[in-house]
Amino acid sequence: MSKDFDLIILGSGPAGYSASMQASKAGKNVLVVEANMEGFGGAWINTGTVPSKALREAAYTVYKYHNLIYQHKAGSRKPFEKYAMADLLRFKNEVMTKETASAKNYFIKNEIKTIRGYGKLVDGNTVEITDTLGMKHTYTTEKVLISTGARPMPPSTFDIDHNIILDSTSVLKMDHFPRRLVIIGAGVHALEFASIFAAMGTIVTVLNAHSDYLGFLDEEIKAELNKSFSDLGILIQNNAHVMGIVKNKLRNKTEVRYTIDGSDQPLHVIETEQVLYLGSRIPNTEKLGLESVGVKTSDDGFIVVDKDFKSSVSSVYAAGDVIGYPSLASASFTQGRLATCHMFDIPAGEVSGLVPYGIYTLPEISSIGLTEKDAVREGINVGVGRAYFDGLTRAQISSAGHGMLKLVFDADSFKLLGVHIIGESSTEIIHLGQSVISRGESIHYFIRNIINYPTYSQAYQTAAFNGVNRILKAGVKYRKEK
Ligand SMILES: Cc1cc2nc3c(=O)[nH]c(=O)nc-3n(C[C@H](O)[C@H](O)[C@H](O)COP(=O)(O)OP(=O)(O)OC[C@H]3O[C@@H](n4cnc5c(N)ncnc54)[C@H](O)[C@@H]3O)c2cc1C
Repeated sequence: MSKDFDLIILGSGPAGYSASMQASKAGKNVLVVEANMEGFGGAWINTGTVPSKALREAAYTVYKYHNLIYQHKAGSRKPFEKYAMADLLRFKNEVMTKETASAKNYFIKNEIKTIRGYGKLVDGNTVEITDTLGMKHTYTTEKVLISTGARPMPPSTFDIDHNIILDSTSVLKMDHFPRRLVIIGAGVHALEFASIFAAMGTIVTVLNAHSDYLGFLDEEIKAELNKSFSDLGILIQNNAHVMGIVKNKLRNKTEVRYTIDGSDQPLHVIETEQVLYLGSRIPNTEKLGLESVGVKTSDDGFIVVDKDFKSSVSSVYAAGDVIGYPSLASASFTQGRLATCHMFDIPAGEVSGLVPYGIYTLPEISSIGLTEKDAVREGINVGVGRAYFDGLTRAQISSAGHGMLKLVFDADSFKLLGVHIIGESSTEIIHLGQSVISRGESIHYFIRNIINYPTYSQAYQTAAFNGVNRILKAGVKYRKEK
């Protein structure tokens, strides 16, 4: 018996969105179910990627202008005293509106049916949707894609009130920049928000429960990041465990109480205006009927899939944050498309397993492939080449501040193994390195090709020359060493 749909997708974030586009292009009859009444796009457009990056862009523009004009003059007013959060929020909202409209238009243009409601599995080929009015609709389908994403995990020692104590969603609706902000958590998103607020003049303290943060970064990139955080006045306290958050009515302040591993002092207290909690995220998998249908999940609730994104039930696929690592919009777009290709035997082409990282701190960071430490650990005879942004014309023109590009390569063959960049436009220029790595080419590529001047991409050429000269012991410095 024929089914109502070829594919029903639960969730319209990057994974569901790209899966629906791919299925539609292949002539499939697709229904996208979205539980969020505010709009399509999931964390990508509504609560994560787009709004946080729009807010960062606005704050960074103010920060750059402020620095260019006032150059940290003593007594100059802080950016948040001169610019209203409302203006920055308006900009962010305008970007979100445009992105939502664009996603909606693509659904319409590609004749993808959409329904607002909460979807759950009845069996491997049947989905029940509870719509906005509480009405239930049941549809049959050849395949199901679960792309319901993830949400912030609530903290255990205090409550989020979305007024004084915020999470990654409510911070995007904040109506002013606080003078002091304590951020609990030191992951990528926490440090991105730390940069945004510090750029606007807020005094930011980050409480990190672990002994280190962003430990996956190349050590030299991390050192550059620390310099920038120091310039921005961001203080990171490692090994800090929050015991509670209380209101000090006498002083009209909020107190964050925490312990520090190895400290003589039993309890530390920091006064703040607001608190932002950015802990880990948990998958939206509890109420989807997975257990009754036989879809396996891991101990922490993520859907278990094979290399084709197929779950333990052959008609049910899953992609995006709901399957865990790497939990990025960038990867979710590709996973959604690939899941559709595999379920309908559509040729997907070869997809590289190399995932680039983009971290939107100030300055931004991007990396791909092996770090120097990774390469040494793998027993490779490692060479590195560096370029600093203060020797880069484009960075000077743009007053871009700190920056560095580091190439990690095989010193015998010069084959490029990793690229690590901190600095303006790093999330863009990383893709030049990505192309060279995925083609298996050597760092000579950057020397043999003419690169636009002045550009940030030029850092590749400088770093390649630096790397080659270091190996060949060429150049004044190395000749002296002989
Ligand atoms: C603050 C922040 C900043 C980020 N910045 C970046 C960045 O710069 N770059 C990057 O690559 N990634 C970034 N991310 C990560 C990125 O947003 C996610 O990896 C991505 O959105 C995951 O896509 P997804 O399709 O799996 O799920 P989501 O985007 O989470 O979408 C899931 C959708 O499913 C819906 N849903 C849930 N349950 C149901 C149900 N039962 N029925 C129907 N619908 C349902 C939800 O309402 C939601 O709309 C950021 C995340 C956060 C929180």
